[in-house]
Amino acid sequence: DITLSQRVQRVKPSPTLAVTARAAELRAAGKDIIGLGAGEPDFDTPDHIKEAAIQAIRNGATRYTAVDGTAELKSAIINKFRRDNGLTCQPDEILVSCGGKQSFYNLCQALLNPGDEVIIPAPYWVSYPDMVRLADGEPVIVRAGLEQRFKITPEQLEAAISPRTRLFVINSPSNPTGVAYSRAELEALAAVLLRNPQILVATDDMYEHILWSDEPFVNIVNVAEELVPRSIVLNGVSKAYAMTGWRIGYAGGPKPLIQAMKKIQSQSTSNPAAVSQAAAVEALDGDQSCIAPMLAAFHERHDYVVAALNALDGVRCAEADGTFYAFPDFSSVIEQLDGINDDAELAEHLLNEAGVALVPGSAFGAPGYLRLSFATGMDTLKDALGRIAGVL
Ligand code: PLP
Repeated sequence: DITLSQRVQRVKPSPTLAVTARAAELRAAGKDIIGLGAGEPDFDTPDHIKEAAIQAIRNGATRYTAVDGTAELKSAIINKFRRDNGLTCQPDEILVSCGGKQSFYNLCQALLNPGDEVIIPAPYWVSYPDMVRLADGEPVIVRAGLEQRFKITPEQLEAAISPRTRLFVINSPSNPTGVAYSRAELEALAAVLLRNPQILVATDDMYEHILWSDEPFVNIVNVAEELVPRSIVLNGVSKAYAMTGWRIGYAGGPKPLIQAMKKIQSQSTSNPAAVSQAAAVEALDGDQSCIAPMLAAFHERHDYVVAALNALDGVRCAEADGTFYAFPDFSSVIEQLDGINDDAELAEHLLNEAGVALVPGSAFGAPGYLRLSFATGMDTLKDALGRIAGVL
C-alpha cells in the first residue's frame, strides 16, 4: 500500500472534470449523451489567433521563455489592463501562468500560512476551496442563494471576517451562477474591506467579456482605488477567446506578491507554453471583434435556457448577467422525486435516464441546484431541455 500525503487527502478531484469524464465514458459505451457539464466555450479559437501561433512556431517560439511570461505578452496584458480596466501595472507586477487555475494556485501557495482563512462566497468556482486547502489554508464559505441572486451582502462579509482572515475572493460574473455584482454592490463590499486593512482581495475577472448586463464590466478594485495596493486581479484568455486548451492565465498585483508567486511557478511549471503565449498576445492585442458573435450566441441561448428551465414544474432559475452557465434551483424537484435525495443523485438520474450531463450544485457549495453549461448549440440545448422535461 502506498501512503499518500495528508495534503492530497484533504482535497477532492475537480467535480466538473469528473462529470465530463463520466459523460465521455457513457458515450464511449454507445450511449447518446448530451454534455452540459463542461465549463468551456463550444467555439473554436478565432483564426487570427491560431495564425499568430503558427507564425510563432515558424519563427522559433519553441524554447523556454522568462518564467513570468514574455515581454510581448506582459506588454499586451499591461495594455489590456489599461484599456479595459483602467489599471496601471508595471511588468514586474504581472505574472503569466498556465491558465487562470495556476494563477489562483500560485496565489494561495505564496500567501497562506496554516490556518489562514480565505473568505469564499458560495456558489463558488469549484477550485477555490480545494486550492486553499492545498496551501494549508481554511476556506470560510459565505452562502448566498437564489433569493439574494447569489450575491453576498456587506453584513455577511463583515460577519465572516476574523483576525485570521487573509484573503477575500470575488468572482463576478460568476461561475456557476452567471450573476454579476453591480457597482453599488461592489462599493458596499469594498467599504467593509476598507475597514479591514489586513485582508487581501482577489478579483477573478475570467468572465469579464461574457457579460450582457446594462452596466459595463466593473470589478471591486475599480470602485475603491484604495484597495489597489492590496488587491490582485486574475484573468485569462480561456473563456473570452475560446482558448481553454492553450492554458494561459495572468495576474496583476503588488510586486512582492507577484514575485513570490513567480518563485512558486519557477519551482513547478516554469513558463507557460511559448506558443500559447504568442497566441495570447494576438488575443489581447489583436482584433477584438471575435468576442461579440460569441457573446451574442451565449446571450440568446441563455434566454432560451432560463425560460425553458423556469417552465419546468418546481424549477426556479434566475436570469444571469453573463457567462455560459445557468444555475437552476431543483430543490422542490428533489423533494418530490421518489428515491432522489440530493442534487448529486438527481444529476446521476438525469445522466442515466435523460442522457444529459449536468454538474450537481453541491460541487459549487450550493446543494439543491444543478449547473447547466449552455456552451453548446441551440438544437442540442432544445434536445437536452426536452429530455429533462420528459424525465421529470
Ligand atoms: N476562474 C473561474 C471563475 C473559472 O470558471 C475558471 C475555469 O473554469 C478559471 C478561473 C480557470 O480557467 P483556466 O485555468 O482554464 O484559464
